[in-house]
Amino acid sequence: MKKKKQLIILWLIISFLSANYTNAQERVNTSKFRRIEEWNTPNAYRTASGAPGFKYFQQRVDYKISIVLDDKTQSISGEEEITYLNLSPDVLTHLWIQLDQNISRENSTARLISKMRMKDTISVEEMAYYFPDFKGGFTLSAVVDKSGSNEKYYVNGTMMRLDLKKPLKPGQKYTFKIKWSYPINDRLKYGGRSGYEYFPADDNYLYAIAQFFPRMAVYNDDRGWQTQQFLGQGEFTFPFGDYDVRITVPADFVVGATGELQNASQVLSKEQLKRLNEAKHTFDKPVFVITPQEASDNEKSRTTNTKTWHFRAKNVRDFAFAASRKFIWDAMAVKLGTNTPLAMSFYPKEGNPLWEEYSTRVVAHTLKVYSKYTFDYPYPVAISVHTDRIGMEYPMICFNGGRPRPDGTYSKATKYGMISVIIHEVGHNWFPMIVNSDERQWTWMDEGLNTYLQYLAEQEWKENYPSRRGAARNIVDYMKSDPSTLVPIMTQSESILQFGNNAYGKPATGLNILRETILGRELFDHAFRHYANRWKFKHPTPEDFFRTIEDAVGQDLSWFWRGWFYTTDACDQYLKSARLFVPQIVHKKDNVYEKVETFENLPDEIKNRLSQNERELMQTPYFLELTIQNKGGLIMPVILKFTFEDSATHVLRLPAEIWLKNEKEFTKVFPFAKKPVRVELDPELETTDIDTSNNQVEITRSNTFYIFTFKNQAQ
Ligand SMILES: [Zn+2]
Repeated sequence: MKKKKQLIILWLIISFLSANYTNAQERVNTSKFRRIEEWNTPNAYRTASGAPGFKYFQQRVDYKISIVLDDKTQSISGEEEITYLNLSPDVLTHLWIQLDQNISRENSTARLISKMRMKDTISVEEMAYYFPDFKGGFTLSAVVDKSGSNEKYYVNGTMMRLDLKKPLKPGQKYTFKIKWSYPINDRLKYGGRSGYEYFPADDNYLYAIAQFFPRMAVYNDDRGWQTQQFLGQGEFTFPFGDYDVRITVPADFVVGATGELQNASQVLSKEQLKRLNEAKHTFDKPVFVITPQEASDNEKSRTTNTKTWHFRAKNVRDFAFAASRKFIWDAMAVKLGTNTPLAMSFYPKEGNPLWEEYSTRVVAHTLKVYSKYTFDYPYPVAISVHTDRIGMEYPMICFNGGRPRPDGTYSKATKYGMISVIIHEVGHNWFPMIVNSDERQWTWMDEGLNTYLQYLAEQEWKENYPSRRGAARNIVDYMKSDPSTLVPIMTQSESILQFGNNAYGKPATGLNILRETILGRELFDHAFRHYANRWKFKHPTPEDFFRTIEDAVGQDLSWFWRGWFYTTDACDQYLKSARLFVPQIVHKKDNVYEKVETFENLPDEIKNRLSQNERELMQTPYFLELTIQNKGGLIMPVILKFTFEDSATHVLRLPAEIWLKNEKEFTKVFPFAKKPVRVELDPELETTDIDTSNNQVEITRSNTFYIFTFKNQAQ
């Protein structure tokens, strides 16, 4: 018995303590304005202000590559020499190399995890897309050191580990060679970011070649080796270096590539070379280097000779090229503050008339606008290649869709789709080719930032350009979509749902909201430029971006980063009540209240005791009291539009900090000289409010409001 009583007491004590413990837990800071716990702790590599720290490092890799493109078998083979420089403070026992072509292997992870459902009707093309008969992937015929003796390596999916014979110490270089080959995919049949397109009418191929050689993975302070496999959605990340590339193709082919052509006099005719040099001084319109007539002659030619095109590129993170007999080639020079690059286009006749009219001009426009908002385009060339249906970016070169109908006519959607994709893919030169973020981890850091600048470039191309993404109102449908289809922007690339809206549209819109609604253009443009310049030719992380923006604007934006990037909260502000008070002055005399008709009728002795501000307030005829609720959860500024009796309007912006102490509701009073007859929340849809039906409310007139009673009048 005694023991039982003790147990009961013990139980009571435990219950009491645990109840207290629960209460204590509830008091944990859940404010949406708190700093973000997920952020890495600042350190010597990356500072708390978002800058590279004093120990910041990045690796470097230089390539010498010789490639042979075989047009008969649609395959490619190459030999490359990789020189890897370890600038990290760490000793490396092995190197990781990316073999992204292995995504097309028969039993690749990407193929094994792709899913489908049967439908009532299905096209055989769709079935073939899910069950491809294409067996791609690298064949490695040699992996050897400088002296030619075999290296020890292991291939795990799209990654290859090279076990170093001797550990690579800080500051040391290692050179090795890989010989490889792979069959090229039919891009329109099997998909993919690169591959060939076949033109049956003239029996020609157009090759857009990328991810085509074994490439060094990034090693850094943030993640060590970048070890995420290529599964198809998350793109790429590479260290910077110099490339020396020789591409051997049939002699009637024309090649465009990352970098500067080194042997133009060997691969072009005298006349073509003259035109290329003329283009370097022509700023007002594109000049043909290969004319439509020459391209048409090439289409019919079938030489068995080959030619080698030699390119060099400095300080790039990747290399891609395009080759075909079908290419028309035009170019024009672009004057930037510190550089005069060549804007160029390569396209088959099937791209005309759109391509000869717009492509190179759009490249030039993009170089100018992006340079203005970030830093001058630093490379010597920027190339747009016409490849049906895709848009894909590489340093100095990109592949773009936008094809007219066979009879040369085209819809507005095709035209603007083409202009937009060219702006977008050329724009990727800045993010992520130069501001070199990890695409495989964070899609928004390149797609989102780039889509934001794309929007600005589109609006500068033409007034009222039909931009698909960028404006706040265009993201509302996404913000109110089924929660099970939403993930935060800060989700690793492979797990993102609604990819285009999540990783392109929403971050781009967020930056626009910062620019237009939260910070203003001058402050935001300064901050964005600060980020771009601070991290150009470096590897930034998300924290580096968020911290750098705050560092440049002098404002804690935790609430914005948290809400917009780390949650799926939506904005729904609700105007609950609007009460209008018309104050009347009451004078207390001998314990009796009497109404004073006007301020002027107040006794002088009282008026004299009032400050100027008090006098003005007493003469203010209207006070409007608003109660506003945050129903959606997302913290946003509050934008109010007042309409007055005389039809005049006034827009007032309350900063998001209005929600600091109560994130659900606030009440605030606004003085007016004129009678407000209408009030509306977010009239221009700047905050992505998902329900505007509750953004207005009838103004009610409240009972007389006594603003002041006077005490101690006789003194
Ligand atoms: Zn993109």
